[in-house]
Amino acid sequence: MIYNYSLFIDGKFLETKNKQQVFNPATGECIAEVSIAAGNDIESAINAARRAFDESPWKKSSLAERKEYILKISQGILEKAQELASLESLNTGKPIKETTFMDIPSSAAAFDHFANHLEEFLAAENVEINSQIANAKSTLSREPQGVVVLIAPWNYPLLITSWKLSQALAAGNTVILKPSSLTPLTALELGKIIHNAGLPSGVVNIINAGGEACGKTLCSDKRIDMISFTGSNAVGKKIMEYASANVKKLTMELGGKSASIILKDADIELAVNGSLCSIFLNQGQMCTAMSRIFVQDEIYDNFVNDFVAKAKRIKLGKPEDFETQMGPLVSKAQLEKVISYVEKGKKEGAKIACGGKTSQDFSLKQGFFFEPTIFVDVTKDMTIFKEEIFGPVACISKFKTENEAITLANASDFGLAACLWTKSHEAAGRIAKSLNTGTVWINTYGMFFNEVPYGGFKQSGFGKELGREGFLEYTRLKNVIMDITKEAKPLVNYWYGF
Ligand code: NAD
Repeated sequence: MIYNYSLFIDGKFLETKNKQQVFNPATGECIAEVSIAAGNDIESAINAARRAFDESPWKKSSLAERKEYILKISQGILEKAQELASLESLNTGKPIKETTFMDIPSSAAAFDHFANHLEEFLAAENVEINSQIANAKSTLSREPQGVVVLIAPWNYPLLITSWKLSQALAAGNTVILKPSSLTPLTALELGKIIHNAGLPSGVVNIINAGGEACGKTLCSDKRIDMISFTGSNAVGKKIMEYASANVKKLTMELGGKSASIILKDADIELAVNGSLCSIFLNQGQMCTAMSRIFVQDEIYDNFVNDFVAKAKRIKLGKPEDFETQMGPLVSKAQLEKVISYVEKGKKEGAKIACGGKTSQDFSLKQGFFFEPTIFVDVTKDMTIFKEEIFGPVACISKFKTENEAITLANASDFGLAACLWTKSHEAAGRIAKSLNTGTVWINTYGMFFNEVPYGGFKQSGFGKELGREGFLEYTRLKNVIMDITKEAKPLVNYWYGF
């Protein structure tokens, strides 16, 4: 069966003449035809979002009404959870176990969380100023940014879309959402849920187009107030350029080359199992993938032996099978990119401990499957140490001292996240402070909570997603100051008041 998806603009589903095919990465087969937004469709989406922000009932709706709309979206996702999980697996190649237990429930939970916290986060704050020159009262209030463009990547299509959309809507914005054209299906399915939830037309518009084709128009237009982007550094840099034309608020969640540090006192079983998740979940296509693993020399051999033995047992298979632990990479291009990095690693002298090739299983030959791959004795001058591979490839290196581990971990242009494995809370606290990353997980990996912010340092971007701070990115702060000097006039009365 081939699905057919339309754009969602101004509350209507719009089928265009120009269509694009979407593929199943496990088989290479076409699974859907999706309308492509042309210039006039993008113009309609911008107009609709602008009008909906400036004039529609959305602007006048109370916080309680807004909350109800957003809770309905959460409920709509839960009602379609199984269907969405299957569709996400079909389109991305993620094992169904991951989409069923992680992507889809977490997507619904984001809408639920921000709907339930918007009143608290938007509460105004009063500041009394009693200085020598004036008495004044300042009211700090949070307003929506306006029209926000949300640009999402292909690795967690519905989840990242839901993070962005739940916060943007809860803050009162209207949006134009552009999913990755490789994986637009669940975002377009979300359009139907939003339609059923009864949001005023134009509040959410979903377009499908190649990034190069629509990026400049969307990100430089004067009518757009903010761009929330998650994706690669190369594209992030272009968007910053486009946005500079008319100066827009930006949040940039970009790439990573995250490091895991395993100290000699770590619970080895936990460190091995946690590290497997940290590089092989979602076929390693995670921005926070711990693609560099540093192990203290006393436990290096034991760790590597166990890690390699368990990695070899990871079951590659069809994404729809609940037993599958690793599916295909998202596309042929991504597979080729991973293969080229593995070849570079070998050429530059890293030793392969396992994997390093496409799946040899005949039943998977048509798909973009790549074996869990581990390089050992990786050094910091190698390309595989420096560049984001975005595939199931772990690079392991040895260290002697805590300081050496910190230096190695920080030797990266990126600063997204890090993991520490140790039984010593003292060492963990000390090392965490020295790591140049936005998130540090201690004795765990990949814990994203709606309650706390997440975002990178250095070239991993700026701005936060999730938590109060992430939510507030989608607002602008207004300061209203009133003079309350009693029995006197403020200084402005006298300066030129001859
Ligand atoms: P990508 O940068 O190729 O694409 C991301 C989005 O940008 C897609 O929707 C794409 O269509 C769009 N795009 C492409 N060119 C554009 C242009 N010129 N103007 C506007 N939009 C354009 O990234 P990807 O390959 O989809 O995702 C993988 C990357 O995303 C990795 O680098 C990964 O680390 C990063 N990522 C980061 C986070 C994070 O939170 N930091 C999370 C997930 C993924």
